[in-house]
Amino acid sequence: MKAAILSDIHSNLEALQIVIKDIKRRRIKSILCLGDLVGYGANPNECVELTMKEAKIVVAGNHDWAALEKTDISTFNPIAADAIRWTKENINKTRLNQLNRLKFTATVDNLLLVHATPETPEQWKYVFSLEEFKQQFQFFKTQLCFVGHSHIPGAVFQDANGYTDLVGDNPFPLIESRRYIVNVGSVGQPRDFDPRATYAIYDGNKHAVEIVRLNYNIPRAQQKILDAGLPEVLAERLLAGR
Ligand code: ZN
Repeated sequence: MKAAILSDIHSNLEALQIVIKDIKRRRIKSILCLGDLVGYGANPNECVELTMKEAKIVVAGNHDWAALEKTDISTFNPIAADAIRWTKENINKTRLNQLNRLKFTATVDNLLLVHATPETPEQWKYVFSLEEFKQQFQFFKTQLCFVGHSHIPGAVFQDANGYTDLVGDNPFPLIESRRYIVNVGSVGQPRDFDPRATYAIYDGNKHAVEIVRLNYNIPRAQQKILDAGLPEVLAERLLAGR
């Protein structure tokens, strides 16, 4: 199986369209999505519609759940909470119903798909340090686990002895005796100081994973955020990539 895995679109239609175009150009048939279709950007309806049309599997993210009032936004920072309130006012029922049907996890072949952590998908925990990644390996059995949520792309492996480390290369080969957690980064709001749209390609035939970065029309996405009356900082951070 060859699949494109994307996450954290956050209502950024300009970024999503570029990513899908790139996936089609590469003739990759399977698109898998790790959630957070909405929140922050100006096109929630369009992004839910396009993602649900193109992706074979979509799991839920915390912003999707917040738009549905299934996650309490008191845990969100004030700007994220503002964006959720805006999203709730601007998303239509059809798209909300689609979000409401999403599950927390999915397994495809030897891949586990989850927005935040395999340990407690519904608690939206953040995993940043190597030690935190190391803990997560005990909570899934597949060779690979793909996550999003932090908007910071990267991969960690664990060998048969429990030795855990960062994967340094991109693309990188999958070694049979190792297991991997891959953060696919964010389509619509990267936070690793690289503003380009991000997604991952899993190639089960060549046993490799690649993180892909793409330029897109950031000024247009920013202008839409401003025109929508969303917080200005949400436009600024698209260009800053943080
Ligand atoms: Zn997110």
